[in-house]
Amino acid sequence: MNADYLRRLDFGSVQGDSESWERARLGDDAILLQTAESEFVVNLADGASSHVCEIEERADGYWGRCDCDAFSYGHHECAHLCALRKADFIGAIDVEGERITIPTTGTADERRARADGGRRDDRVDDVENPGAGHDGRVFGRPEGRL
Ligand SMILES: [Zn+2]
Repeated sequence: MNADYLRRLDFGSVQGDSESWERARLGDDAILLQTAESEFVVNLADGASSHVCEIEERADGYWGRCDCDAFSYGHHECAHLCALRKADFIGAIDVEGERITIPTTGTADERRARADGGRRDDRVDDVENPGAGHDGRVFGRPEGRL
């Protein structure tokens, strides 16, 4: 819900023979650190600096962002996000010894929502309260006594 700035990532288009995929080597020199559920710091072996990435898996694929130049120029499957995709796939650990895991978001709920066609089971019948004074009588003084 709060991650609409993420971009759809098509790893299939870069897998295997692209420069990004090649650069995303997970050797001893590459540094990965998971800083939040879907946030990572990535420093590739040939990288001059660390980059902050965000990535998650949704029902329709991977979504993410990175603060590197390649990503900002529209090459969304940058080497850093490729490295995280690889690390998740092979079960790599980060520099603190934690397993790199790309979180899966919303998938189960979205499937449930589609399965029941949006039907609501928790509907409560509205009970109308007539309120006071609605008993049919007319109040007021007879005209003759005014
Ligand atoms: Zn990047």
